[in-house]
Parts: sequence; C-alpha cells; structure tokens
Amino acid sequence: MPGLFIDVRVDAAVAKDAELARKLAEACPVDIFEATDAGVMIVEANLDECTLCDLCLQAAPEGTVQIVKLYDGDVR
Ligand code: SF4
Repeated sequence: MPGLFIDVRVDAAVAKDAELARKLAEACPVDIFEATDAGVMIVEANLDECTLCDLCLQAAPEGTVQIVKLYDGDVR
C-alpha cells in the first residue's frame, strides 16, 4: 500500500539490482529504500516522509525510479 501523499516506484527491471539497491538506500535521507538480498524494498511506513529531494532519481538510471505525488498526480 502506498503512503497517503507519496508513492515511490522502482522499475521491475532494476529492482533486483543489489548495487542499485545499496545506492538508493544510501541516497535517501528518510530511509524509504532498504537494500536486501532480493534487491530494493520500499519502506512503506516512511513514504510520507519523502522530502522530494530527488537524490534517489539522481542515484538511479533515468526513468527507473518514480516519485508520485498522490495528492496532485505529479510524477517526478
Ligand atoms: S526524493 Fe529524496 S526523500 Fe524522496 S524517496 Fe527520493 S531520496 Fe528519498
């Protein structure tokens, strides 16, 4: 289940990439990404803490991570 205000989506093609998972976990200041043996997991309890800092977008290949503002439909 996404957060009330924010949803974060990682493209299935890269979600199992352990190196990318580690980069995302390091990049996000509010721990929305968790690096596991199975790849990146989204910590849903933290979704609404997203500051829209875009560090995850910069850490991932273009277009593979999306930040969705559920309150206005905007996608970053
Ligand atoms: S935009 Fe910033 S706070 Fe939000 S998920 Fe990405 S790294 Fe985390």
